[in-house]
Amino acid sequence: MRIGIDLGGSKIEILAIDREGRELTRRRVPTPRDDYHDVIRTMRDLVLEAEGQLGRRGSVGVAIPGTISPFTGLVKNANATRLNGHPLDKDLAAALTRAVRVANDANCFVLSEATDGAAAGKDVVFGIIAGTGVGGGVCVGGRVLTGAHAIAGEWGHNSLPRPSLDEVRDAPHCYCGRRGCIEAWCSGPALAAQYAAGAGRHADASEIARLAGQGDRVAAPLFEAFIDRFARAIAGVVNILDPDAIVLGGGLSNIDALYRELPKRVENHAFSAQAPSLIVRNRHGDSSGVRGAAWLWPKDRDP
Ligand SMILES: [Zn+2]
Repeated sequence: MRIGIDLGGSKIEILAIDREGRELTRRRVPTPRDDYHDVIRTMRDLVLEAEGQLGRRGSVGVAIPGTISPFTGLVKNANATRLNGHPLDKDLAAALTRAVRVANDANCFVLSEATDGAAAGKDVVFGIIAGTGVGGGVCVGGRVLTGAHAIAGEWGHNSLPRPSLDEVRDAPHCYCGRRGCIEAWCSGPALAAQYAAGAGRHADASEIARLAGQGDRVAAPLFEAFIDRFARAIAGVVNILDPDAIVLGGGLSNIDALYRELPKRVENHAFSAQAPSLIVRNRHGDSSGVRGAAWLWPKDRDP
């Protein structure tokens, strides 16, 4: 039995699956607000409770909204900031008296989809989470590629490839301190801000896509530019990684037009003259984080 925990800023979800990926039990509780040690205790109690209920012991993997620094062994870059600066994997391992694997939630997303999701059976998989931000992760041969600095797949903070002169001049500021990052052009809020500037009212990315499909004079050219930018950004990944599949997750993955329009545009911008990697919608949706956390103990090797 594999147990996955998705540790988020507002909720902690636990899921136990069998070796075929079938769900055995699932529970969701609020994340303790202030104290880091309460977070560890809550995760420990959820695991012990699930194991008591199911009458067996499982391996434990955790998805976190940040990463464990390979240099310090401490959590960094977590937006749930009370986790930062703590050796979360070691503390939870001590609380549960067993080895615990911890990975970034975007990496868990791609691992989930590569193991038994939309990219099952594919060797090299690039997972994109596009919504409030633009992030990603890489999975090769069923294993997450973490990288020397634990930033593999963080393509959202590359600059937009092949910018036009206007895009150089108007490059938006990014919270990372730079200008013209892919995330600053292609996230949901970025698209909404571009629309608000032209239309004088707010609409979210899905509505902008819908309006564009109806030929709206503000939304249509904006969405066209958005897709082209997104395709250029993906082509940059294709040229380096040449993935067998690209899986889209996050809020923007619900926009149908992306699956229709992106492949041919990526083909225009990537080095390959042939149709590029398969661009597919995720299968597990919001469950990808918690499922990927469970699969940190790989399917083909029993823990
Ligand atoms: Zn940035």
